[in-house]
Amino acid sequence: MSRVTGYEAIIFDLDGTLYRGRSPIPGAIAALDRFREAARCLFLSNNGELQSRALVERLRDFGFDVAPGEVISSADLVLQHTSAYPSSTRILPLTSPHLAAALAEQGHQLVEDETAEIVVIGVDRELTRERMVSGLRAALNGAIMVATNEDPTYPGENGLRPAAGAYVGFFRGMGIEPAFLCGKPDEGAVRDALRLWQIAEPSNCLFVGDNLRTDIEAANRVGADSILVLSGVARRQDTVAATAKPSLIVESVAEIDVAVIAEGAGRTPTKDAPAGTWNPRKATA
Ligand SMILES: [Mg+2]
Repeated sequence: MSRVTGYEAIIFDLDGTLYRGRSPIPGAIAALDRFREAARCLFLSNNGELQSRALVERLRDFGFDVAPGEVISSADLVLQHTSAYPSSTRILPLTSPHLAAALAEQGHQLVEDETAEIVVIGVDRELTRERMVSGLRAALNGAIMVATNEDPTYPGENGLRPAAGAYVGFFRGMGIEPAFLCGKPDEGAVRDALRLWQIAEPSNCLFVGDNLRTDIEAANRVGADSILVLSGVARRQDTVAATAKPSLIVESVAEIDVAVIAEGAGRTPTKDAPAGTWNPRKATA
């Protein structure tokens, strides 16, 4: 097996890339085993509801061979952020109950009113007008606004559902911007995750994901190579107008030829490479 010697790590997205809904992408489990022969494999998810512990369990239930510590989610990055504040900080969690419980476990005080010092914005399935009012007034009182990410939608079992970006949009509509974003493609968030994994040179990673606006844009922002898989949200025609440019487009991770990437890692980028050819951003070998 060829080794992808040029890359410090391969950073996989989860939903739409390795699994979709309740099923693994066909061939993805074997593909991951091949990648592991070639490079360190890590998993960066914009899931703002679940911590890595739950995502590792999910991946293992599907049959993927992953270790704790290899997965980082938006929820983990939020908790990494809030861990820097003194315990008993008052936090209004406009989030999943899971993330709210984890914030309380850090010793923070969960509040429902405008006295919050931090407002965490994620997917809040129980969002009410009163809680929006609390969030608005806390923000006007100077609360720090921390959002899991700006994903517009996510795929549910029966179709798309509003993701954290919809909730950020509520606040943006009121003239309030989040101070911190804890997911792809935010460059600070991506660099934080890579730092937690002790990656020395982010531009020396290869990102693999199904979303142009998050996965591929994240790679572009840190100067890394990227592979867009069409097994999730992006369609081939989306790539034409998108500002985020992948180094390669494939139908799914099962199609990625590790040998081709190993060979391409040392190649100089070429402009306007034909579709389906490997076009790395920079020579990495
Ligand atoms: Mg995805």
